[in-house]
Amino acid sequence: MNVAASVNAPLPIQSQLKKEARYGCSICGCPLLEYVQFIPSDTPGAYLPENMIAICPAHTLKFVRNELLATGLASFKAKPYNKLNENKPFALASPELTVNIAKTKFINTYRLLSVDDFDLITIRKENNSYLLLDLNFFDSQNNLIAAVSENSWITDKKQVWNIDYEPGYMKIQNKKRQILFEVKIESGEIFIVADMYYNGIPVKITRDQVLFGGIEEGAEMKGTTLKNYETAISFQSDKWLT
Ligand SMILES: [Zn+2]
Repeated sequence: MNVAASVNAPLPIQSQLKKEARYGCSICGCPLLEYVQFIPSDTPGAYLPENMIAICPAHTLKFVRNELLATGLASFKAKPYNKLNENKPFALASPELTVNIAKTKFINTYRLLSVDDFDLITIRKENNSYLLLDLNFFDSQNNLIAAVSENSWITDKKQVWNIDYEPGYMKIQNKKRQILFEVKIESGEIFIVADMYYNGIPVKITRDQVLFGGIEEGAEMKGTTLKNYETAISFQSDKWLT
């Protein structure tokens, strides 16, 4: 086992490594990132960005299992995937950010789903191109069991999450907890599908419907395009709980 892997790097180092990797895994481009120390530090607890790399959870696991060597990581650090493959990053080339939720199109709306003013899904663009995700995954018992903070992946139960990535598509899934987040880029626009919870209430986004506590919401917005909204979909849980 390679124990040098680390996810607790200080935030300024995380953002330096993120920028260097162009907001995706240095090996495959997946926008969920962990920060791995591939050359152990002489001083315990000291982090040197030159000895660290931003990679996805699947590639962190390969490094931990010794299926990836430090020398390999050093070369990916020098030539990250998103730099070599500029035509297929997880990014939008258009100046606007267009997100489709069910049958409604939101333009330049970054807060996509919030409950009680707490954001569950936010997507912004960095350098007017790369997508930056903020996600909060609660289970049905209202425990926050994983989060994505500007593409940094944070969870203490890695083994229960499946993360699939190919250029333009990512799925994060916890089958046992029935949690799903899927983001797809098609013709320069983003499409979202999700099964999430807040305050124990299921929030479901399909290609056709948004359901809060099993009840369809926002049906009247279908087929419309809304620009510069503060929040695309926002719910209040007290209404549902009483
Ligand atoms: Zn990767």
